[in-house]
Parts: sequence; C-alpha cells; structure tokens
Amino acid sequence: MKFSTKAIHTGQEPDERTGAVSVPIYQTSTYAHEGIGKNKGYDYSRAENPTRFALEKNFAAIENATHAFAFSSGLSAIDAVLRTLSAGDHVIAANDMYGGTYRLFSSILTRFNMEFSFVDMTNVENITRAIKPNTKMIYTETPSNPMMVLTDLREVAKIGNARHLLTVVDNTFATPYLQNPITLGFDAALHSTTKYLGGHSDLIGGAVMTNNAEFAEKIKFIQYAVGAVPSPFECWLLLRSSRTLAVRMKQHCENARTVADFLSKHKRVVKTFYPGLPSHPQRALAENQMRDFGAMVSFDTGSLERAQKMSESVHVVTFGESLGGVESLLCHPATMTHPGVPKEIRNALGITDGLLRLSVGIEDVEDIIADLDRALNA
Ligand SMILES: *Cc1c(COP(=O)(O)O)cnc(C)c1O
Repeated sequence: MKFSTKAIHTGQEPDERTGAVSVPIYQTSTYAHEGIGKNKGYDYSRAENPTRFALEKNFAAIENATHAFAFSSGLSAIDAVLRTLSAGDHVIAANDMYGGTYRLFSSILTRFNMEFSFVDMTNVENITRAIKPNTKMIYTETPSNPMMVLTDLREVAKIGNARHLLTVVDNTFATPYLQNPITLGFDAALHSTTKYLGGHSDLIGGAVMTNNAEFAEKIKFIQYAVGAVPSPFECWLLLRSSRTLAVRMKQHCENARTVADFLSKHKRVVKTFYPGLPSHPQRALAENQMRDFGAMVSFDTGSLERAQKMSESVHVVTFGESLGGVESLLCHPATMTHPGVPKEIRNALGITDGLLRLSVGIEDVEDIIADLDRALNA
C-alpha cells in the first residue's frame, strides 16, 4: 500500500464490534480479568491500550517500520531511546539539534555518566573520527533545528552498520511523508508528534519507530517500566491527524517553497535557510533522501532589533514556540528554543540574535507573504 492509504487505513480499520470508522477512545486505566491468569491480553493501560496500539500500528506502517511506540512527548521518546544505553556509554550526536535534545543530553544524561560528542555531521568523517571504544550510538536530526542542516542518512547508516553502532534520527521536521530513515538504513526514527504528525497545535506527544527487533524490545520495556505513555485521547487525536498528513504536507511544502523564495529575495533578509533553495549547500542531498523540502524556513534579519520588530508586527503568522501546525508560526531560536545552548556555540552554528524560524502553515500563501512583507518593512 502507498503512503496515504496506509495513513488512512492501517490500524484504523472499522471497529469489529460496531463498524465505527473512527477508532474508539478506550478511556480506561484497567481491564476486568476472568480469573487468575485469565485476561483478554489487556491488563493495565500503561502497558496495553487499544487506542494506543491502533496508533502504534499506524505509525509503524507510515514510517516503513516493524515496530512503533508512542510516548507522552517528543522528549520522553528521545529519553527512552537514550535509556537503552548504560552509564559509561558514548553517543556521537549532531551539533545542530533541537535545543531541548541538547539540554537533555548535556544537563541530565551526563549526570548518569553518559558521554556525548557533538560533531558537524555534514562531513561524515567527523563521525568516524569521534568513534571511541565505548561508542554505542549515532544520533542525528535532519533537517536540523533551526539551521536546516542535513545529515546524509545513507552514509551514516553505513558507518553505523559497519561499526555496530545504533543509528537514530529525529525525523520530526521531515515527517514520514517526506523521509523514511529506516528505509535508508537507519535503526530507528523518532518524532515529536506534537509537530506535523499532530498538525493542529493541540497536543504534546512523541514516537519511536524501528525495524530492529532487539532495540524494539528495549524501547517497549522502557515505555512500560518508565511510563511516559500518551493518553488514549491524545492517541485518538494523532490517529485522526495521520489521515490528513499527506495532504497537509503537500500544501505545507508548496507554501514553504514560495515563502522561501520570497524571503531569499527580500532586501531586509540577510540570509535564508531552506533545503529547497538553490543556495542551500546540501540541496542535492535533500533531493536524494527527501521527497520534498519540508516547510521549515529560517532567515536572518541581521539584528535582535529587527527580529524584535518583526515578532511584534506579524498578524496572520503567529509569533510563538513550536511548529508543524496548520497555522504559520514564527519563533526566535536564540531566546525560545535554544537558550540552553551556550551563546558562543549558537553563534558558531549561525543561531544569531537576528535569526527567526518560520513554520510555514497552510493558510493561503498570498496572505502569509503579505504579512511577512509588512512585518519585515515595519
Ligand atoms: C519539539 C521537538 C522535540 C521535542 O518534542 P516535545 O514534543 O516538545 O517534547 C524534539 N525534536 C524536535 C526536532 C522538535 O522540534
């Protein structure tokens, strides 16, 4: 089956008992047993919930994975992935990632004696060079947040396979509609489902997908033993959203192409970062591993003052955290998503005080552009 068909139907077959075409919300914490050792496969909702199982089946299908596990947030999904390792283990991570991931790695997991090297993955030799005897995992994000830097997934998968290192990628920006890391050789893909998979800025969630049975067992155990599971209602919202993922992504990408082109030519914009622009140094790689270029666009306004002015002048576009919703969202990475990254590192990566990140929504693109133009000239 092709993408949209799987997204609409897998795990979302009509309910066996009633024929309901929308998966029922099993809002229950526990299940009646018929006696000692006799139940219907459902014991307690942290471990088993039919609505969550339907979602996990759906997510596995759209990411071309054998297993999927849903979590209560993107960060709890990332935390679960890292908890498959032990104290003393070393992780090679990308140097440009979501600020919260950097914070989890550098301020929490290091306290449990996990070791991290943050490397520029645009040159995969930096990964090979960083491998140590205790290295267990390569962790990346592509396109990255907020600089739209790409990692060559096929090349990194090769390194991981050759050196027996687990390869994991945060696929939030691309979504399974645009990029399937597992098909490209990665062990696991994870998502903040808060973003495009939810798509309506009305929930917080996460997911881990994998084809690696041993890793899947570990994640399943952590999901149950640590307990960061989503509620049945959140799972239901995500099942509903999955059904429109393909059409939303098509429109997101089309709007983003137009917006990126507009920004790149605007006299008040110093630089625009979008994998689909001819000026993006990794455009060929984007074409090679993604179906389209996504809908995240960052641009440098040149100064904090200009970014400030713009943040206060947009009306159609909402100034706020997060991304991936139907509405366009603008944010200021230096103060909102990446304050946990030291300023010297931020500047070296290009996360200047003038940088703004735009999640291009699916409003009429003429309205988005008129709003941006007015705010840039304000
Ligand atoms: C938002 C985000 C996360 C964290 O997800 P939450 O759902 O907020 O916990 C992780 N990675 C990326 C790329 C994100 O955008």
